[in-house]
Amino acid sequence: MSRARRLISLPSLALAAVATLAAGGASAQTTGSDGLSEMEKARAALPPDAAKVLFGEKAAPAPLEARSIGSYARGCLAGATALPVDGSAWQVMRLSRNRNWGHPALIAFLEHFAARGRAIGWPGLLVGDMSQPRGGPMLTGHASHQIGLDADIWFSPMPDRTLSADERETISAVSMVDMGRRELDRTKWTETRAKLVREAARDPAVARIFVNPPIKKALCDWAGSDRAWLAKVRPWYGHNYHFHVRIACPAGDASCADQDPPPSGDGCGADLAWWLGPEPWKPSEPEKPRPPMMLADLPEACRQVLLAK
Ligand SMILES: [Zn+2]
Repeated sequence: MSRARRLISLPSLALAAVATLAAGGASAQTTGSDGLSEMEKARAALPPDAAKVLFGEKAAPAPLEARSIGSYARGCLAGATALPVDGSAWQVMRLSRNRNWGHPALIAFLEHFAARGRAIGWPGLLVGDMSQPRGGPMLTGHASHQIGLDADIWFSPMPDRTLSADERETISAVSMVDMGRRELDRTKWTETRAKLVREAARDPAVARIFVNPPIKKALCDWAGSDRAWLAKVRPWYGHNYHFHVRIACPAGDASCADQDPPPSGDGCGADLAWWLGPEPWKPSEPEKPRPPMMLADLPEACRQVLLAK
């Protein structure tokens, strides 16, 4: 993507959503002084037939053959599977959000990746948002995560005990970046974290990984001569408390639209320099609020996903 195009396409919402995205999402239980939760407020501001409202209401998956339908930021998910909240080497966080759903290919990737992580010295994954039971747009956070192929993994290691449901709501993730200086926090970052991101990037199922720009810089400086995997690791807003792993469309899933592959090369040059400079962080002109995505804006098959009983 050219810099000009990227600037134009920067969603103004992305900046507003950074705080929410940062910790893999704030708790659904967060209530303001008016007693309404973050999600209730978001819902109240939308027409009842907005896609976020319709998909946000679904508590269970569509009992259909598993399919990722559409693209990462405009689509839905049929036949989703839940990642078990406790695994051999992972625990799911923020259970009240009910966003631990994915295409079976994502579940398989996470199970494998958690085990690989342990083999390189990472005690286990804390898994943040994946997708809603039927995918689709969400009331809070994320523009993507719509087709069951995205997962947020905390940079905090899993503790050696099972967290209570309450702890999973309230424990804060730890930022790897001094966001004021836009520099890596070297008191928090470790080589094992670098190895963990590399391990994910080397998995052939993975299409992209998003991290905050100083984290990409740290990986560029650390990588040595084997640099092919760095192409998949993309600098982006947020992603200082967690990294976001996006797997490619499962083989043979004709309804799933892959993204263009990331640019070739390690991405450690001019592109990263731009991200580390002031330009991406300048306050942008307030845009006119865009009308919310409606069911008709999603692929036609998402209507059946919504209605399936
Ligand atoms: Zn994410």
